[in-house]
Amino acid sequence: MSLGAIRHWVFDMDGTLTVAVHDFAAIREALGIPPEHDILTHLAALPVEEATVKHAWLLEHERDLAIASRPAAGAVELVRELAGRGCQLGILTRNARELAHVTLEAIGLADCFPVEHILGRDEAAPKPNPDGLLKIARAWDVAPSELVMVGDYRFDLDCGRAAGARTVLVNLPDNPWPELVDWHAADCHALRGLLG
Ligand SMILES: [Mg+2]
Repeated sequence: MSLGAIRHWVFDMDGTLTVAVHDFAAIREALGIPPEHDILTHLAALPVEEATVKHAWLLEHERDLAIASRPAAGAVELVRELAGRGCQLGILTRNARELAHVTLEAIGLADCFPVEHILGRDEAAPKPNPDGLLKIARAWDVAPSELVMVGDYRFDLDCGRAAGARTVLVNLPDNPWPELVDWHAADCHALRGLLG
């Protein structure tokens, strides 16, 4: 199947549609999370009260980042092109849905992604779990193999593979995970060029 024939597109947000700004090392330090731990997994294992306080801190920190978001190179043009072709568009993010919407407003793409097609960390098990992608496929009433998952990190690709979807890696000049990637583009400009 050619990329241009795919009608159902799911995007990671941070670092894929936006310029990555999260300083995960600083977040771990502020929340007392060991450097090698996954942030969301760590918070999920904490006692409820501590987890609540730390989740609230994370949400506020990420709200500031969301408001100041800038689009990744070519991201706005790519999404508008796909929307113009009548493709279905969704977001699967480890961020919170509300902040994903704030981010999309900041980069001028909120009208392309209906809120019900934005799945954040409270709507689905976080990537690399395929839960969110499978939920989107069910909502759109298509087989997961009809979807393409676009992301800038291995979690996006693992999630896509686990769901049985196609995968695109963007915004990394090299492709460190060739076995997980169906298409690789240096940025969203180049990805748009692959649509044909
Ligand atoms: Mg990302």
